[in-house]
Amino acid sequence: MSATPGITLLGSTGSIGVSTLDVIERNPGRCRVVALTANSDVARLLEQCLKFRPRYAVMADESAAARLRVQLRQQAPDIEVMAGVDGLVRVAELDEVDCVMAAIVGAAGLLPTLAAARAGKRVLLANKEALVMSGALFMNEVRRSGAVLLPVDSEHNAVFQCLPPDFLPGRASPDGVEQILLTASGGPFRTTPLEQLASVTPEQACAHPNWEMGRKISVDSATMMNKGLEVIEACWLFGLPESKVQVVLHPQSVVHSLVQYRDGSVLAELGRPDMRTPIAHALAWPERVASGVGLLDLFAVGRLDFEPPDLDRFPCLALATQAWRAGGTASTVLNAANEVAVQAFLDGRLPFTGIPRVIEATLEQCPVQSPDSLDVILEADSAARMTARAQIEQGLRRAGS
Ligand code: NDP
Repeated sequence: MSATPGITLLGSTGSIGVSTLDVIERNPGRCRVVALTANSDVARLLEQCLKFRPRYAVMADESAAARLRVQLRQQAPDIEVMAGVDGLVRVAELDEVDCVMAAIVGAAGLLPTLAAARAGKRVLLANKEALVMSGALFMNEVRRSGAVLLPVDSEHNAVFQCLPPDFLPGRASPDGVEQILLTASGGPFRTTPLEQLASVTPEQACAHPNWEMGRKISVDSATMMNKGLEVIEACWLFGLPESKVQVVLHPQSVVHSLVQYRDGSVLAELGRPDMRTPIAHALAWPERVASGVGLLDLFAVGRLDFEPPDLDRFPCLALATQAWRAGGTASTVLNAANEVAVQAFLDGRLPFTGIPRVIEATLEQCPVQSPDSLDVILEADSAARMTARAQIEQGLRRAGS
């Protein structure tokens, strides 16, 4: 590693990306921003480029990249602009990059995140969908290349902090662990009467009580598919069977997760619900740096509540468990159907309660295959998207007739 590690931020314009740049800015000299990437938000990426002066800027959207190129030619001609998935993959595997923050939302992050793992980088993983859709392949690449995989998702980062200090994802399973308890806030609809769920709006679903996040993960939190994806993520990261991963509703979001050991000890990580804490932890690991997050005031918190999740209210949680147990490409199908259904909900083409229906029907219709190669995974992803879209169209036709 060079004296000042180089970092690529995949998804720098998103919620995690912006928080990561905030932490980087608070710790001058800690890392060098080599590349920033976005999909189509030219204005925000331009602003970030002018401030952080990376060597490369990548936009997945070709026309957005062309617009950024025009702007940067005048204001910062030394920054090279690239476009498309090839550009994203390239900046994830550059020799001058030591560390990659994987914070693209959804399956779009798979290829660059996998490229970072293959290239043996330190991979800070926020993009859980990449791991859910390609778990076995991804973890094999981590083992083969010696990449250091550090969880950024707050629950997994909390678990990682509570595991023995020599544990790293992808290496041996942690010793003496009886159970992992993943906490979940229950989102904005934890107590909403069930009969009202069919008519909730995207704005209501995105108004998370404790966390500020991108729109897709906010809806996932409202359905609790987010927790379902996180159970799968935990099984891959920590090498544990799903029977050892328990979801616990904890509305205050202060305890970010817990590890129960064989001897009866329970270790937990607590803090304010602010993603800059796990981001700073992963960026500096094994050291500690300032994150900008204030100290936790336990007297102000007052009480901590815990309850089991209600699977009638949150059927997506049960669907995720079902997919994990089915094995093979079922988790890929689950993730793809969820992405399509959530987008349809955000676009006003599917009611909130239609999300689990679309996922369930897609899981039933898509055969489970052995995820032997990236091609098989990408084909399963694309077939599941077609099936989920057809389900939504059928629903719309039925509603119109
Ligand atoms: P946002 O929607 O806020 O940001 C997504 C980022 O990905 C943006 O930079 C966006 O670019 C980029 N992007 C979107 N689509 C594409 C594409 N097709 N190709 C390339 N880049 C793309 O998401 P979040 O920051 O909330 O979440 C990012 C990831 O982190 C998700 O996987 C989420 O599950 C995970 N995560 C997020 C947490 C949070 O608190 N936000 C907590 C834990 C995990 P543009 O701005 O141009 O659209």
